[in-house]
Amino acid sequence: MHFFSVMIKQGMKTKLKLEEIEAEVIQKKINNLHLRVLPPDGTVRISAPFHTKNEIIHDFAFSRLNWIRKQRLRISKNVLESYKYINQEIHYYMGCGYQLKVQAKNEHPFVQLTDNEILLHVPEGADEDKRRSVLHEWYHSQLTKIISPLVKKWETILNVSVERFSIRSMKTRWGSCTPKTRKIRFNLELVKRSHACLEYIVVHEMVHLLEASHNNKFKALMDRFYPNWKLYRKELRSLPIKA
Ligand SMILES: [Zn+2]
Repeated sequence: MHFFSVMIKQGMKTKLKLEEIEAEVIQKKINNLHLRVLPPDGTVRISAPFHTKNEIIHDFAFSRLNWIRKQRLRISKNVLESYKYINQEIHYYMGCGYQLKVQAKNEHPFVQLTDNEILLHVPEGADEDKRRSVLHEWYHSQLTKIISPLVKKWETILNVSVERFSIRSMKTRWGSCTPKTRKIRFNLELVKRSHACLEYIVVHEMVHLLEASHNNKFKALMDRFYPNWKLYRKELRSLPIKA
């Protein structure tokens, strides 16, 4: 059990780690424990009466872990399916949520990332398809920039060589590798996940150059080269693939 405390203005807010999920715990003047999963990013918020023991809060939340996962899945599906690429939507980049801000001017389209916003510069009158494609092209080029040095790094560590990697939208897989041709494909959706999850997929696909199937040898290689890989696999599974 891990508790991290931070003081906020109104009372005490604590963070509780439940496997791959981090929950906020807020102590209030209430009688019973409450748990909510909030859109758009699936934040888990637990309200607890003052002086509730940490173990009780933990057990309460832990017993609802599967329900929490289902809610998060449902929320993220709704959010992803309803993207219109308009102001104030929350879009994801490298594991963080950013508010989208559309800047419609007569200029060459580009994307700018600030501390909390993704600025989408598009020509005046750009429709939803245009806005989506500008953002997706940016995602694509960012992911290429992030993956290239990782592939180089792991070529050295694993003593393998990748012929070519490509990025595409895939419905069911994070990546794939053809050991015979040494070609690797990565899912564009990885650009929205944390760097550690992304690197896990890079390592996973490149370890396939040493072992093609997911057998014990493969798992032993993963344990050796990327010890926390199961944690990141779980994190990736906690949210659906949707590019
Ligand atoms: Zn695999």
